Amino acid sequence: MATLLQGKQLTAKIKAVLEADIKEFRQRVGTVPVLASIEVGDDKRIGIYTSMQRRAAEGLGIEYRLKHFAGNITEQELIDQVHQLNGDESVNGIIVQLPCPAHIDDRKISQRIRVDKDVEGIHPENLGRLLLGQARVIPCTAAAAMELINATGIDLSGKNAVIVGRSEIVGKPLIFLLLEKSPTVTICHSGTSKAGKLEEFVGSADILVAAIGKPALIKGSWIKEGAIVIDVGINQVGDTLVGDVEFGTAQRRASFITPVPGGVGPLTVFMLMRNLINAAKLQRGFGG
Ligand code: NAD
Repeated sequence: MATLLQGKQLTAKIKAVLEADIKEFRQRVGTVPVLASIEVGDDKRIGIYTSMQRRAAEGLGIEYRLKHFAGNITEQELIDQVHQLNGDESVNGIIVQLPCPAHIDDRKISQRIRVDKDVEGIHPENLGRLLLGQARVIPCTAAAAMELINATGIDLSGKNAVIVGRSEIVGKPLIFLLLEKSPTVTICHSGTSKAGKLEEFVGSADILVAAIGKPALIKGSWIKEGAIVIDVGINQVGDTLVGDVEFGTAQRRASFITPVPGGVGPLTVFMLMRNLINAAKLQRGFGG
């Protein structure tokens, strides 16, 4: 039976480091770090994210400034808001809550965030730095998945790491984070499923990361005995949240597995805070 990899168990250690960093920042700069958050429209899921972010930020002593805009704001008006925050020296980091309403190009907005205020690590320069192994900020969900893999203490060198899902915030950044630990990395996606090859690749994984967004798409019986299973998926099924991996059977085969909820999710928000603090320190010429 697999050991549960619970995000909460890691947050205490991470919080202690962040608190010390914020204390140092306050002492050296005289202010607290500030995270500006842009929310457009009234999507309930985004409301849940922003309240989680506010709770985590304020719990650490970070100022969380939420700017809410009506769903009919134009793309140009939103870009102007980003530019205003870029120029506001009291703001250390900016996050645009995605997705924006359909008439707005998410990527166009996110890429207007000043590179040193990009706390999600999605600016082209930050993604380029990640590829080069010189990351200053790492996309938060990928960073959380990697923290959990590292927490197993298993040497990844020469093992088979399989990622399912190629999104820009999870699957793609994980390729580079994993490669630093020298496993053989394979990335699967909808094309793999269409070709009928997903089960075969999943079955070869010593480390499996599922970031798909489809409830229990990965069957427990596909999991290799002794694998590390990181389930990033969060899917609402009726009143419950489930992951992308069929948990019950997978838990019996894996050596480590993340529960959903309670695995990757609780860590992600602290990765955002870590990125913010690192950005704030670099802006003031220390840290990094
Ligand atoms: P996305 O929709 O951007 O990407 C999904 C990926 O899954 C795509 O690359 C697609 O090719 C792949 N895919 C779709 N159907 C497939 C199939 N049948 N077989 C193989 N691959 C398939 O999703 P995302 O933003 O990366 O999110 C993925 C999941 O992670 C979602 O459930 C989301 O809610 C969750 N998520 C969790 C956190 C967290 O903090 N825990 C953060 C972000 C996203």
